[in-house]
Amino acid sequence: MPKITTMEELFIDELRDLYDAETQLTKALPKMAKAASSDELRNAFEEHLEQTENQVERLKRIFELSSEKPTGRKCAAMAGLIKEGDAMVSHSDDTPVRDAGLIAAAQKVEHYEISGYGSARTHAELLGNDEAVRLLEETLREEKETDEKLTELAQSMINEEALTSVSSSTDGARTATVRGRSTSRSPHGR
Ligand code: FE
Ligand code: FE
Ligand code: FE
Repeated sequence: MPKITTMEELFIDELRDLYDAETQLTKALPKMAKAASSDELRNAFEEHLEQTENQVERLKRIFELSSEKPTGRKCAAMAGLIKEGDAMVSHSDDTPVRDAGLIAAAQKVEHYEISGYGSARTHAELLGNDEAVRLLEETLREEKETDEKLTELAQSMINEEALTSVSSSTDGARTATVRGRSTSRSPHGR
């Protein structure tokens, strides 16, 4: 990678990171939707997938404005966040507890995006790139709204359901947690 020496170059590098992050998400969100057991959560992921596809288009537009090729630069952070989410899904059953975990994983993703878009927006402002500011603001608003919607879903229903959720993969020795108090334990102590 060539050296980054100017704010213009830093801005383009930030766009490439966001572009790759969003592209990774267009592949991860359908999997997260599939893993969700709550209809509301699945809908939220599907809706955000549509927004994410638009966000990719906005980034392409900004590259175009800057006469830069719309290519990404591997976002290692997003790859890591997605990997952690995948691991949580494969180590959980299809219950509200998994949904609570999916929300937590998705909010880490949104917070990363909010931070990335916030900086890119500020740098576009600094560079006097008004059209980029407008496009980045639009995406930033969607990411914040998604984050708030996920908090709302967790707090209005999913967390409570998860708290009284009983694992479907265990037998008589299942772990049932009621109001935060463990009523029985699995013989493996998990
Ligand atoms: Fe996004
Ligand atoms: Fe990144
Ligand atoms: Fe997002």
